Amino acid sequence: MTDQFTKLTSKDFMSDQDIRWCPGCGDYSVLANVQRVMPELGIPRENFVFVSGIGCSSRFPYYMNTYGFHTIHGRAPAFATGIKASRPELSVWVVTGDGDGLSIGGNHMLHTIRRNIDIQILLFNNRVYGLTKGQYSPTSQLGMQTSSSPDGSIDHPVDPLAFALGAGATFVARAIDVDGAHLQQLLERAYRHPGTALIEILQNCPVYNDNEWLEVEDRKSRTDAALVLEDGEPLLFGSEDRRRGIGFHGGIATVVELEKGEDPIAAGVAVHNERYQTPAYAFALATLRRPEFPLPIGVFRAVETATYDALLEGQVAAAVVKRGAGSLHDLLYSGDTWTVDPS
Ligand code: SF4
Repeated sequence: MTDQFTKLTSKDFMSDQDIRWCPGCGDYSVLANVQRVMPELGIPRENFVFVSGIGCSSRFPYYMNTYGFHTIHGRAPAFATGIKASRPELSVWVVTGDGDGLSIGGNHMLHTIRRNIDIQILLFNNRVYGLTKGQYSPTSQLGMQTSSSPDGSIDHPVDPLAFALGAGATFVARAIDVDGAHLQQLLERAYRHPGTALIEILQNCPVYNDNEWLEVEDRKSRTDAALVLEDGEPLLFGSEDRRRGIGFHGGIATVVELEKGEDPIAAGVAVHNERYQTPAYAFALATLRRPEFPLPIGVFRAVETATYDALLEGQVAAAVVKRGAGSLHDLLYSGDTWTVDPS
């Protein structure tokens, strides 16, 4: 148990398990950054729970020196919901991948997000099934050749953030596996958000889908390929020599080319606002694709509304006031019960 006077470090969150990801996997960077952020959150280590499904990223709970659950395929959000509903004081983190979270687990993901239960979801997106040796996943691009799509995938991919926003997500963000400082900021913001906070983490799988995110992982090309979102700031990207911005006309995004020294707002560049009540603006950002547009990185949406766990707690407290604390035994033996005759 952690006492309140001991300052924890990232080492306190490292387990003694051998890490079994392939050399160079983006998961290492995400793990290291999560372990760096945990001590800064100011809660005892035993109050953290990491819950995962199945897949490479789902080995995450083994490597965290916290409570954890390596559960069943796609069901981590359901387990996390149960944990948070029954123990609201715990900090519950789901770790999932594009296959686990958006294919077999898409249904659970949808309902967890719409309920707005106060948990964090880290969705590692490498656009491939890694653990089962490289089949195309729900986020793989059209035409991707894999062992299960030898002539190229003919599935239109799902965008994780557009999916989350469609389900009413109150906090959605996108991070890059190798940009540790930025990832740490987003992890802390996700933790502090009351409600379901989903971060899509662009993660490289060097074995089955190498360099899928190279344009935004590489610092040099990131300047033109990524749009870093900052609340209250214009949507700008590109180098000083070729500054560009994103404007919206009739809800449709356009790239605005700026003259040197030109005022971006006067030129029609939109100003980022995480707090629009309508998800329409965040959805428009989530649909920006390479190569026509830069890929937005950062917090797309952060709005507050009642959380499922708070509403549940309120209902239980009101029921106790009205009918007393009750007993599970009395409940099980009430109403229409019968006895099975073993003879
Ligand atoms: Fe990482 Fe890919 Fe190896 Fe899985 S298969 S551990 S995602 S590099």
